[in-house]
Amino acid sequence: MIYADNAATTKMSQASIDKMISLMNETYGNPSSLYRFGQKAKEELELARETVASVIGAEPREILFTSGGSEADNQAIRSVALLGKAQGKNHIISTKFEHHAVLHTLDKLAKEGFEITLLDVHKDGLVRPEEVAAAITDKTALVTIMYANNEIGTIQPIAEIGKICREKKVLFHTDAVQAIGHLPINVVEQNIDLLSASGHKFHGPKGTGFLYAKKGIKLSNLIEGGAQERGKRAGTENVPGIAAMAVALKEIVEKMPETAKEVSAKRDRLIAGLSEIEHSALNGDRTKRLPSNVNFCFEGIEGESLLLLLDEKGIAASSGSACTSGSLDPSHVLLAIGRVHDVAHGSLRLSLGEDITDEDIDYMINAVKEVVTYLRSFSPIWRDLVAGKKQFIL
Ligand SMILES: *Cc1c(COP(=O)(O)O)cnc(C)c1O
Repeated sequence: MIYADNAATTKMSQASIDKMISLMNETYGNPSSLYRFGQKAKEELELARETVASVIGAEPREILFTSGGSEADNQAIRSVALLGKAQGKNHIISTKFEHHAVLHTLDKLAKEGFEITLLDVHKDGLVRPEEVAAAITDKTALVTIMYANNEIGTIQPIAEIGKICREKKVLFHTDAVQAIGHLPINVVEQNIDLLSASGHKFHGPKGTGFLYAKKGIKLSNLIEGGAQERGKRAGTENVPGIAAMAVALKEIVEKMPETAKEVSAKRDRLIAGLSEIEHSALNGDRTKRLPSNVNFCFEGIEGESLLLLLDEKGIAASSGSACTSGSLDPSHVLLAIGRVHDVAHGSLRLSLGEDITDEDIDYMINAVKEVVTYLRSFSPIWRDLVAGKKQFIL
């Protein structure tokens, strides 16, 4: 079995599992309790906060633990929207290929009277900083642009966008869920005001994550109740999960320079192999992409059937986003980079883990080649393409 869907979720690291189990067994006190048993849990919580903060160049008090990336995105965007509203600013800039945690929050804000500009991401899957600059008006409260895209892996010019926002005095949020642990992050150097992260994307537990908000930015609550997390997120903290997330993050970041090199070599080998399939195309820029991400479109086939047949060959892959499976709509990300519906339907994302081997890569190349050929052999669309009744696009 080859697990090639690490952009959807990752296996927990052994160190992260060990940490979680040890806290569940021994440190189950409530961190808000005053006796030592509770204070031990509080120490673990604050230790995790320090770890997470140091990884992104932030201060511990700038870290708020959440249930994951979606919650962090929601809270970041809602908070800044409210701050903006109080100053008479009702404009938010984002892009067409954000995660739905961002896009759906923006949809709701649009209904509440905010004006939303969604920038184009061009064929290469990249946002142009000058287009961000041009979209900013004196009504702009927030720019929110993801660091790396979850479907096509393209890496956005975050530091440049951060600089523009700082100069124009607009707050900048980035959904760094796919980037953290895989790309360097320093919120000070990159002028990032708010950042979202999720534990289960970097070998930590599901249901954990955090929001970084630069000191001085007043967050508003999504959840009301007790005074946990400086009063900004009520509910007894998930101490074992949070501590296990911090362990996983520290581990992946320490190994990052090494794994980035190794995994991107595997990625390049996979891209080269799949490019041999006729009428196929890589989605997103060839080099400005996550070390782990490969995303292709194959003309004349359907992504869903491809996935099922790959599953039979022991490969866990995705057609793009875990969140859209079950819906027949093509990926909004592929449409945003200009793929037409027919082509966008035939997409395949392989997101590699750090332990992937050359043998795995070769196995996947052969499996995809076989399955694509097989599916095309009885595809009516492919028949029309070959007969010249329809034009090839790729
Ligand atoms: C997975 C993901 C999220 C959501 O994170 P959860 O922890 O699953 O809520 C948000 N943004 C991006 C880019 C993601 O890949």
